[in-house]
Amino acid sequence: MKEYILVTGGAGYIGSHTVKYLASQGKPTIVFDNLTYGHREFINWSDDFIPADLADRTTLERVFTDYNIQAVMHFAAYTYVGESVTDPARYYRNNVIGALNLLDAMRSAGVKMLVFSSTCATYGMPQEIPISESHPQEPINPYGMTKLIIERMLADYERAYGLSWCALRYFNAAGADPEGEIGEWHDPETHLIPLVLDAAIGKRPAISVFGTDYSTPDRTCIRDYIHVTDLAQAHYLALEYLQSGGTSGAFNLGNGHGHSVKEIIECVHSVTGRDIPVTYEARRAGDPHVLVGSADKAREVLGWKPHYADIDTIVKTAWNWHRKLWK
Ligand code: UDP
Repeated sequence: MKEYILVTGGAGYIGSHTVKYLASQGKPTIVFDNLTYGHREFINWSDDFIPADLADRTTLERVFTDYNIQAVMHFAAYTYVGESVTDPARYYRNNVIGALNLLDAMRSAGVKMLVFSSTCATYGMPQEIPISESHPQEPINPYGMTKLIIERMLADYERAYGLSWCALRYFNAAGADPEGEIGEWHDPETHLIPLVLDAAIGKRPAISVFGTDYSTPDRTCIRDYIHVTDLAQAHYLALEYLQSGGTSGAFNLGNGHGHSVKEIIECVHSVTGRDIPVTYEARRAGDPHVLVGSADKAREVLGWKPHYADIDTIVKTAWNWHRKLWK
């Protein structure tokens, strides 16, 4: 019988790139997405699409009876950090209860492998750079806390019910499908690179730089930008790893080096050839000055090797997609 990977949130930014990558490796998928933030246009490489919410347990359970699901990749979540502070109930309900419903549907169906979309936001304020997987996890916002709670749920489900899992803790997901078919498309957009691209095409009057008094060489924040297709590859490798009997656990996914906000603006300027109007603003609450991860574990254990590591390539792919989206 044909075996499928169920991809929740498969119409979203990272989920859709992963579905495309899995298809390129001959892995059939079923996408489960409520399209609150996902895009119908991004569902092009899966065998079926279930337009439903993880709160809908009946539909969720039916997917496992209708299809021979071999493993699950769980991306579906709300991801706006600021909104998670002002409306935590929405985040705990959607992210935590949604994951619980998913885990229970897997348990009823006897599906025992899960690759989970986690985040460096589970670490909170960095105590050392680069951040490794053993860094304390003390999230500073409800979004990060929902992801940490789910990681803890996975460990408990492993002990009690034999779940095998990988939690992939991404640093700053960026860039777009190198073939330009899908990319970053958030509404509202809050991430730096698409916002700078908006300023480049005149869709926004300027990019606001949040904070110019950080203890970094150019006084702006430093982040570890990682290409979305490299994240997709890591999901595939994590699944292969679990299938071959690998030990459950967490893996950081980043390039291990950072770029400042000013460097990103300069990079967008050189890639696009456009002038980027800039305004300088106060710090954004809760922004650490540097976030850079060590992904040595993913490289060594999963055999992961980013192919689009340099920031010019990341920004070029993002630009290629952005131009197409907003032309
Ligand atoms: N940033 C900025 N202006 C913006 C959006 C973001 O200066 O309009 C900065 C932000 O303070 C952080 C970096 O860019 O230092 C990356 O922010 P983003 O929201 O993309 O990702 P985060 O690191 O918050 O997950």
